Formats: sequence, C-alpha cells, structure tokens
Amino acid sequence: MPVRKRCFLWAMPWGQGGGASLFIFRNGVRAQVWACTLLFGGLIATAGFAAQVPLPRSRPAEAPHSAPAVQTDQPDVPADAAPPSQAAPAIAPAEPAPSACRLALTEAIAIAPSLPPIRGPGDCGGDDIVRLEAVMVSPDQRVALKPPAVLRCTMAMAVANWVRIDAAPLAASLGSALSEVDNFDSYECRGRNRVKGAKLSEHGRANALDIRGLRLANGTMLSLTDRNLSRDLREKVLHSVCTRFTTVLGPGSDWYHEDHIHLDIAERRNNYRLCQWNVDDPMPQIAPLLPAVRPDEAPPRETAEEAGEPDGRTEPPAQASDAADRKPPQAASSAKPAMRPARRP
Ligand SMILES: [Zn+2]
Repeated sequence: MPVRKRCFLWAMPWGQGGGASLFIFRNGVRAQVWACTLLFGGLIATAGFAAQVPLPRSRPAEAPHSAPAVQTDQPDVPADAAPPSQAAPAIAPAEPAPSACRLALTEAIAIAPSLPPIRGPGDCGGDDIVRLEAVMVSPDQRVALKPPAVLRCTMAMAVANWVRIDAAPLAASLGSALSEVDNFDSYECRGRNRVKGAKLSEHGRANALDIRGLRLANGTMLSLTDRNLSRDLREKVLHSVCTRFTTVLGPGSDWYHEDHIHLDIAERRNNYRLCQWNVDDPMPQIAPLLPAVRPDEAPPRETAEEAGEPDGRTEPPAQASDAADRKPPQAASSAKPAMRPARRP
C-alpha cells in the first residue's frame, strides 16, 4: 500500500481518537507511523499555531484619534511650506518712503542729512527729522547754521526758504553776503519757556528754531534784539519771519524772549498766527551820574543846614491859613557855624 494511503488510514482514527491509533500500528509498521506523523504533524502544527495567534481587537469608537507618525529628528514644517531651496529670503521691515519735503529738500537747497526718528521721552520727538547744517543760497554761497539745527523737514524747509529768499538778499543790501545764522536752540525736549510741567514746547517736536543774529561775511554780527541795530533792518526781518512762520516771539512778548527770536510753524485753528516782537527804539541817553566840575569862580555853596533845616530838607513855603500859627524858626546860627569852607569837586 502506498505510504500516503496508509497515512490517511492512520490519520482517520487518530483524528477521532487521538493517540490510541498509534498503539494499533506500533508493532507492525512503526516506520510508516513515524513517516505519517511527520507528514501530518507539520500540517496540524501549522493549523494549530495559526488558530492560536490572537488578532487585534477592533478600535473602540470612543478611542482618541491617534496622532500621525512624526519623525522627531526633523523640525516641524508646515504642510504648505515650500522646500528650503524655494523659500523666499527674510525681508527686513521696509523703510518708510521719503516724504514730499525730504524729496524737495535737495542739496541744491540745503545741506540737511536725515536723522532717525526721535521717540520720546514722553510726547517729545517726531518723524522726518533732519540736521540742518547749511542753506545753499547759490552754488557759491552757503549760509551755515551755527551750530547745526535739528528740525523736522518742514521746519528746515521753512528756514531754508527764509534764508534764501529774504535774509540773504537783505544782508546783501548792506554790502556783504550772509554767512551764518546764529542758532540759539532747535530740538530740545522741554516745556514752553523751559517751565517744568508746562505744555510741550514746539522745540520738543523739533518744530522750532531760536535765533539771535545773522553774521555777514565781513564779520559783522547783526544782533536782532539789539535796540541799536538799524530799526529799518529789524522791521524788515520782523516782516519776513512773520510771513513765513506761524509763531514769532521776540522782545516784548514775554521776558523769556528778550535776547532771541523764536520761530516755529505750529498749526492752529483757523490758521491763527502769532507775531509778537517789539522793535524798540534805542534806550535814551543816560544822564551822567557825576555833576559837572564846579568852576573855580563859583561862589561858595550854602549847606542845607545853613538854609534852615536840621535834617537837610527844605521847609515848604507856609500856606496863608496856617502861617500865623507857625512859630518862627530858631536861628541856626546859635547851634551851627555860620559858614563852611567851600568844597571843591
Ligand atoms: Zn524758542
């Protein structure tokens, strides 16, 4: 009988009765038993192992969603991010476009390099700041701000226009070119008139310039608050600055402006302007403190005592109504010497 058929016959009772059939064939066909055992044993073992491997249970509905697998050794990259080779380069914050004033204030008009914006303290500072170093009256004539003034561009432009159109021709009419503007103060974070706690001055907004005078190329300094400077000249300067600036404060406005002229371009309601500058006349000639030299031929002077008053005062003339009640004055000659030697000056 072929081995496979015998094995089938052996397996039938073994499958039903287990190991008992092994003893039936033990004495006769031991070799075939072992052969069949090997043949079917592998199949049974395979089937039994497969039956014993547990399958994963189905995921409960209430289980949390599992996170997607993440490679921890790679940085997090947004899903829509472009590959590194295609990413746009980092762009620094764009600088604000130059103002219309900045574009207009060219080096043909003034030497006024831009400065960074001033931020504080408090409300002080502003944007579009320049350092006005000089005004170009012409390619050959430059008027320096001494020292350079820190101003907003619009104020610097107003100063440049005043120097070019008004001040330089006025100086030229005096026979010499304008060379310097004496800058007394420009940007400064402070209250009005340097009063602590007062409303912020336009100087704190870089919107004001204090000037004391104009220097000519021949060395002459025109001090604008000097009473002895030509009145006509000061009035022309007054008229020009009050036309170009919205605030002009000089002598007579308050005692803070006796030695300089304040200029600014503060904006007020209804375009209100402030022009307060008294062009004063020269002070009157002061009378000499010492008396004129007494001439030698002058008669000796009487002293006050000699005139009848012990304390030096002269008695006013008695009125008619009380003259009768008044006692006659005692003769001074009884207490004082009649004459003193005349003093020489
Ligand atoms: Zn001022």
